[in-house]
Amino acid sequence: MQPFNERDYAGLMWGEMSWVEVGRAAKEGRIVVLPLGSTEQHGPMMPVGCDHFLAHSWALEGARRARDTHHVPVVVLPTLPYGRATQHMDFPGTVSLSLDTYLRLLEDIARNAIRAGCRFLGQSAIPIMLAEARRRGHTPCSTCNLPQYGIR
Ligand SMILES: [Zn+2]
Repeated sequence: MQPFNERDYAGLMWGEMSWVEVGRAAKEGRIVVLPLGSTEQHGPMMPVGCDHFLAHSWALEGARRARDTHHVPVVVLPTLPYGRATQHMDFPGTVSLSLDTYLRLLEDIARNAIRAGCRFLGQSAIPIMLAEARRRGHTPCSTCNLPQYGIR
């Protein structure tokens, strides 16, 4: 992987957009990607933020490739740095959400993306898969749909 160059990711990050730009991104039908990470132990030599650092980087790189290689418009939400990490609770530095909190958080984030006008939602691991599905003429979110929110 090439060294991180912020210019390559210009225009992809939801958190760097104004509300006008987010509204425009929604109207363009951009796929909204939510990078999901965790804050948990990874042994004595690795940072507890390892998972969400990687989720953030992979989401941006996936979004850049979707845009630049497949011409699929994507916008990346701020990375969620917490998840379910109950198996790591014996180690200092781990932060684990209850399942109920985690699901409600994801629902609220999805609900707000929809309120902004967005209709396609994916998580960090799948923007390239979505781009490929779209290129082949498949409905993009068939593998990650949230039908209860009307997302295709
Ligand atoms: Zn981990």
